[in-house]
Amino acid sequence: MAGKDYYEILGVSKSADADEIKSAYRRLAKKYHPDLNKTPEAAEKFKEINEAYEVLGDEKKRANYDQYGSADGPQFQGGGFGGDFSGFGGGFGGFSDIFSDIFSAFGGGGSGPRMQQRGDDIVISMRLSFDEAIFGVEKLISFNRVETCSKCNGTGAKNGREFTTCPDCKGSGRVRIQQNTMFGTTIRESVCPRCSGTGKMIKERCEECGGKGCKRVPAQVRVKVPAGIDDGQTIRMRGEGNAPAGQGISGDLNIKVTVGQHPIFKRVGTDLLFDLYVPFTTCLLGGKVEIPLTRGTKVIDIDAGTQNGTVIRVKGKGVKVLNREAYGDLLVTIKSEIPKSLTKKGRDLLKELEAKFDENDYPKAKEFKGKMKNL
Ligand SMILES: [Zn+2]
Ligand SMILES: [Zn+2]
Repeated sequence: MAGKDYYEILGVSKSADADEIKSAYRRLAKKYHPDLNKTPEAAEKFKEINEAYEVLGDEKKRANYDQYGSADGPQFQGGGFGGDFSGFGGGFGGFSDIFSDIFSAFGGGGSGPRMQQRGDDIVISMRLSFDEAIFGVEKLISFNRVETCSKCNGTGAKNGREFTTCPDCKGSGRVRIQQNTMFGTTIRESVCPRCSGTGKMIKERCEECGGKGCKRVPAQVRVKVPAGIDDGQTIRMRGEGNAPAGQGISGDLNIKVTVGQHPIFKRVGTDLLFDLYVPFTTCLLGGKVEIPLTRGTKVIDIDAGTQNGTVIRVKGKGVKVLNREAYGDLLVTIKSEIPKSLTKKGRDLLKELEAKFDENDYPKAKEFKGKMKNL
């Protein structure tokens, strides 16, 4: 813990007031929240930001930190911060207000004392053609999902009204549970299990959903597929998954993409590759060859003396980088094609040509022979 500059982590000055610190933290937490930011550094960064805010967001800890360089004051103790990020609801008091803001803005997981329920995620697959993947496309997809019953508004009670008060919690939604621990008996308040914290019980069930408050129905969602998406990648649509039973937020819809082949191009990341067969005489003499692009064609120069296997890079004619205005390249591998048979005339002409070359015209063959001699 010691040695880290928490002010620097939050990007605020040493004289920043509580509001400045809080708003810097909110901005960064939103930016690096692992649910919202999928870059590999995000989780680590998010942890660091929380660590910094746990100290700077607390007057007493901040004072200690300013004076001693540690939130714990002069008697330094290691490991002040738990670092468990899976359960935001618990543990770090003072954060919950901020987290609930973030989550409500993005429709993410629940927090705070009233644990909001979250529906299940749905995974479906979507086939795209090669062109749809590289240029992007908008598609209407159909699938089944659990939606909140509109007849009872998700309450499960007939017309959303037929309730009685929960007898266990008398309508408060909370019950006291006695716990015996090694430190003695503690009384803990908790969500009423009988009514799941609603304080109400269904008197008469909703006919539409049978009291479940939700129903599996066919759904259609318009998906904007970004240009540059690749085979095996997933598009996540927040809140388009299943609704939870009862009140809460829906899970996500994860659309796993498979991309079809192109008759010519092979895609590797954002680069496109293909083999271009040209007559061996073009490789020898040089020339111009028309090649395909993702849109249209282009004429490229083959230099005289081009070797078989030479790769010509056509810059910026590959696939768009996902979510960025940048493009990969088109890599053309030149393959010198040699006729499998010759006419009598052709053979005589080539024989004549062969006699014009000596071993210095074939430096690689010469080098190889040299190596063999030295074996
Ligand atoms: Zn219903
Ligand atoms: Zn209850």
